[in-house]
Amino acid sequence: MIVSKFGGSSVADADQIRKVKAILESDERRMVAVVSAPGKRNKEDQKITDLLYKCNSLVQKGQTCRPVFNEISKRFIQMAQKLKVDDVKLSERLDDIRCSIDAGRGADYAASRGEYLSALVISEFLGWEFLDAEDAIVINQDSTVNEATSQRLAEKLEPGKRYVIPGFYGETEQGVIKTFTRGGSDITGSIVARAIGAELYENWTDVSGIYRADPRIVEDAEVIPELSYKEVRELSDVGASVFHEEAIAPIYSIGIPIVVKNTNRPSDPGTRILPESAGNGAVAVSARTGLSRIRLRKLMLFKKYGMRHALLTMLHVFGIRPSYSLFGIDSIVWFFDSKMASDSVCDAMCERLKKEFGLDSIEVDHGHAILGVVGDGTDSSDAYLASAEALKNADIRTTFVNYGSSSASVLFGVKEDDAADAVKAVYKALF
Ligand code: ASP
Repeated sequence: MIVSKFGGSSVADADQIRKVKAILESDERRMVAVVSAPGKRNKEDQKITDLLYKCNSLVQKGQTCRPVFNEISKRFIQMAQKLKVDDVKLSERLDDIRCSIDAGRGADYAASRGEYLSALVISEFLGWEFLDAEDAIVINQDSTVNEATSQRLAEKLEPGKRYVIPGFYGETEQGVIKTFTRGGSDITGSIVARAIGAELYENWTDVSGIYRADPRIVEDAEVIPELSYKEVRELSDVGASVFHEEAIAPIYSIGIPIVVKNTNRPSDPGTRILPESAGNGAVAVSARTGLSRIRLRKLMLFKKYGMRHALLTMLHVFGIRPSYSLFGIDSIVWFFDSKMASDSVCDAMCERLKKEFGLDSIEVDHGHAILGVVGDGTDSSDAYLASAEALKNADIRTTFVNYGSSSASVLFGVKEDDAADAVKAVYKALF
């Protein structure tokens, strides 16, 4: 059995959904399709999920979501008409959803409705069963998958039947709709693949696999034929957006192979993601932008037991969870996603930390990026030296280096403005 997950661009309109049908029907092992909400049909277009979040924000501000929701309704109705799907009572469902959003059911409920409607229309078009994720996927408050999910899914999925399941959401143990983080339909696909013991998990998107570098930066970047679980996680962490970083966990222990394929070019081989790799060193380079940096200093900082932990706890109080840390004899540097805190929150945090811990100095600055050279065995190859040399030759200053913390990556801190040039320089040197 194969589980096939289709991302937003693969279900963006009726024409795309016809391609999905052709793919699903071309191999009878494809038993379950997991679908995203319709994505962008062109560069200027809006994702349905973004519109749904907008609807919720309007309600939060005391307004009705009606004007934005009308755009959503129009898209689904047009899609259903073109596909000649008229059995799903779409107009009534759309009205119900709009009323519930207006009544303040919250961001998770609103965002989840894109996947819900998408799966309803697609299941009807295919003549496959619709299984609501709300009845089968249990999500904990911290957005992780609840243990009850596998059993619930196994109970709901009858052998021999074909299903369409909406991605991205489920419900909590208390029965409240909850979503994963953005791009979370990849996680749903992975959970379903595990529950049915799939032989393959296909991830259909609008590119022909995972590239050695972002093709918007390196035009002629190659597609990587094969990657390991570890490599794909490392790569997502440094900004490559093709596969959700948390989607490996559900299948990690059973090793289901994944393939990333292009809905618009289904015969392209794509990228296979396997539990292990040959460990031949660097396979890709990517940069994660949008990071801020905290630098703090205090003489004998670590003399007091538990200091690191206490400081981190205080950061968490201000909503900051650092992604990368560096420690000196009297200093700490943390990098975190800039979206985690506004300037005023950063100022308040600095003031509180300085006072409470008697720091000599603390400052926050923005515009940082992390460049990752990824590949199993990178730590024992020449990739580190070659990358450092390439950055030096391109006149790019590094703010830190992380070598040795993982056998599958080397990380360089660079300024955000240099990130694209850094990717180009390292790609040229390595591939
Ligand atoms: N529709 C959701 C998003 O845009 C989830 C997904 O597509 O995987 O993030």
